Amino acid sequence: MKKNVLITGAAGFLGSHLCDYFLSKNYKVIGIDNFITGSPKNLSHLTTNSDFEFREIDITHDFKIDDSIDYILHFASPASPIDYLQIPLETLRVGSLGTENVLKIAFRNNARILIASTSEVYGDPLEHPQKEEYCGNVDPVGPRGVYDETKRFQEALTTAYHTFHGLNIRIARIFNTYGARMRVNDGRAIPAFMGQVLREESLTVFGDGSQTRSFCYIDDMVEGIYKLLHSNYSKPMNLGNPEEITLIDLANEIIALGGKNNKIIFKPLPINDPIKRKPDITKAMSILNWKPKISRKEGLENTFNYFRNLSFEELNKKEHKFA
Ligand code: NAD
Repeated sequence: MKKNVLITGAAGFLGSHLCDYFLSKNYKVIGIDNFITGSPKNLSHLTTNSDFEFREIDITHDFKIDDSIDYILHFASPASPIDYLQIPLETLRVGSLGTENVLKIAFRNNARILIASTSEVYGDPLEHPQKEEYCGNVDPVGPRGVYDETKRFQEALTTAYHTFHGLNIRIARIFNTYGARMRVNDGRAIPAFMGQVLREESLTVFGDGSQTRSFCYIDDMVEGIYKLLHSNYSKPMNLGNPEEITLIDLANEIIALGGKNNKIIFKPLPINDPIKRKPDITKAMSILNWKPKISRKEGLENTFNYFRNLSFEELNKKEHKFA
């Protein structure tokens, strides 16, 4: 008998890849999404798959799932700064009200739930690399507070369901992840640089480009999430690729993939933009026997091939849907 997994945020970047991965592992998948930042296109290849069912639901309102559920992957939430700065209240609500609605479904079904938390719970970190025990440096009323604090609340709420109700929980602190199905205009560095290269524009680097990020390829991330779900570990766990790169070096690597002498232009660093980001994945390595396998070169090439195949309209769709 196949196990049922409920995936919130199924039409998004990570959620749609998780649907594919769990279907490939012989699960039945119910995907839910309200398309606020996701797209039906990310799931269009699954419409004929009898093990997949999609329901359009805004999880911040009460909703019912009558099927019996074994596992829940809670991934619904705007995730890119360009999104959550434009829909701050929706972002706060999905992490709080939405999370509690999903936790109640997990509780009723006695299902195991994994929530998508984020490296943003560390804010602009004063410790480097970031271990799970580090409590972070977040400004609750800064512009990024709407995302960072809803994710911190989400962790607290989920942990309270564990300690008070005995709910079986997993908390993935996900660091920057990239790959196919990201939106070219979602403001994150890799799609932004790739879009600029493909449109033969200058690349925009914020600050002087010396700030670092650590990018994990999507295939590695979904494998890590799968392993965490099936582990016995109920505290937060970092998942990400510890290989760190400055944004200026990243811009040059992406130009090398197919650029035509693109220039790099510099713009002021957004407020509270983290200077450094690098996961300590000692726990994931020892508890899950997991670490990223795909090199940045291979991951960037795969992702560039995805963006290269977008239509002219998609590549040039610069205006944002909330604008
Ligand atoms: P995304 O925007 O592509 O996907 C999020 C999905 O959630 C979208 O399809 C959106 O429509 C849906 N959603 C939002 N609010 C909803 C609501 N109220 N009801 C139903 N659906 C709703 O973002 P992503 O990059 O795939 O991120 C997915 C999750 O992973 C998020 O929780 C994010 O915080 C977390 N995460 C992502 C990264 C990353 O690098 N991509 C890093 C850390 C954490």
